[in-house]
Amino acid sequence: MPHLLTKSRYLDGLQCPKLMWTKLNARERVPAGDAWHHQLASAGRQLEDLAMQLWQGGVEVPPFRDGAERVAATGKLLSKRVPVFGATFQVEGRHCRVDVLEPAPGGRWDLIEVKAGARIRNVTVQDLAFQRDVLLAAGVELDRLWVLHVDTGYVRGEQLELPELFRRVDVTERVLKVGPYVEKTVASLREVAAGPDPDVPIGPHCNDPHACRLIPVCWAGLPDDNVTQLHRSGRSAFGLLDQGIFRIRDIPDARLSVNQRIQKTAVVTGEVQVDRAAVRRWLDDLRWPLWFLDFETMAPAVPPRPGLRPYQQVPFQYSLHVQDEPDGPLRHHEFLHIDAGDPRPCLVRALLDNLGPGGSVVTWNREYERMVLHDLAGFVPRRAGQLTAMAARLVDLADPWHTFAVHHPGQKGSTSLKAVLPTVTDLDYADLGIGSGAEATHAYEAAMASAESPAVREVVFRNLRRYCARDTLAMHELLRWLTASAT
Ligand code: SF4
Repeated sequence: MPHLLTKSRYLDGLQCPKLMWTKLNARERVPAGDAWHHQLASAGRQLEDLAMQLWQGGVEVPPFRDGAERVAATGKLLSKRVPVFGATFQVEGRHCRVDVLEPAPGGRWDLIEVKAGARIRNVTVQDLAFQRDVLLAAGVELDRLWVLHVDTGYVRGEQLELPELFRRVDVTERVLKVGPYVEKTVASLREVAAGPDPDVPIGPHCNDPHACRLIPVCWAGLPDDNVTQLHRSGRSAFGLLDQGIFRIRDIPDARLSVNQRIQKTAVVTGEVQVDRAAVRRWLDDLRWPLWFLDFETMAPAVPPRPGLRPYQQVPFQYSLHVQDEPDGPLRHHEFLHIDAGDPRPCLVRALLDNLGPGGSVVTWNREYERMVLHDLAGFVPRRAGQLTAMAARLVDLADPWHTFAVHHPGQKGSTSLKAVLPTVTDLDYADLGIGSGAEATHAYEAAMASAESPAVREVVFRNLRRYCARDTLAMHELLRWLTASAT
């Protein structure tokens, strides 16, 4: 039986026919989604549920397991001329579920797509064009097409004001522009779905509009020092591949920037490149004692408390390692909010107790910690002076790597803490139950929201503490290595 073309399959096919084909015919090859994918999906579901409250008298199509039952139920609801949530259509091998259908004048309908994002992307317009095509084939007369997305300018009051949380944008003209291409694309994707595994070369489309889940599979044949890892190579990396240049070592120097040449030298020699004078200048700016600070935050689409904006970063945890003098012992402070309610009042109190008045506050990617501290200052005006003074003491340990004063071939073009750490120290994150910031946020939100047993929650909290402490210990170890390498 031919595969149904759903809107997610259609969008996969637009990004890459091979992606669509593999999901349909060789699902076992597709790596599982990570914590980031789970967060995105749960934010989308939460917003859809909230959006339904905007329509008085709306009715949701029951979530029957059988698609035919959902289609039949949709038909009955449409005849009542009420707002319908989750209307489902299946026509000529195409299937789609519509977030909201709203009665419009003249027996027509407005179609509304609910999106978690803060802006309207081309992929959303393509999504709506596919839905419109299916509905027209099903005999539904459409009026306007809308996207309902989160308004990031909204600041929550005592209550959640749904009409202000969402922004409704008319995208009818944009959708009509791509409409004529849908039919042809559907026909060609149907052929792909029924045919053999398509041969599609890797390219910029692998990361546009999303990082493809099949990258670990399709890119596996690239050599270790391949040109996609070249600093700031972007789309030009695929131009190099087209010309038969696969490895960074094979790129002529004349085509490289200064920093890319440093990277090439590291790759060719297999040795870390260190500009000792630049590293010493950076080290000279440090003021002791040193405070190694890292926050973990969550950024819910729906602000859970008054005063918060959608997607505002709310810290719930920090780790702080302190060293009073060079080669002195390390002390450790930490905070993790495990009670219900806003984590910020307790976190600010603990942080200001733990972090003394003098010395540099060492971070990895300082702008993130600076933003968190300034937000906290806005939240607790009484402590704003101390928090902004703390922000003024931030230094960015990633700077020597960002500026290529240091570059190790093992970084593979990345300057993330996780990529840099194992290249010059014995530390990594492999032994931890949580291995990334996204996983930390996902684990924390799940533990706080669910009715897990205290024992299960305690395991999550222990993993979170170990993860965050590893980040600040990592910074200390990297600084030690940096100091030694500059002499
Ligand atoms: S990794 Fe690239 S080539 Fe492979 S399926 Fe995904 S988008 Fe297509």
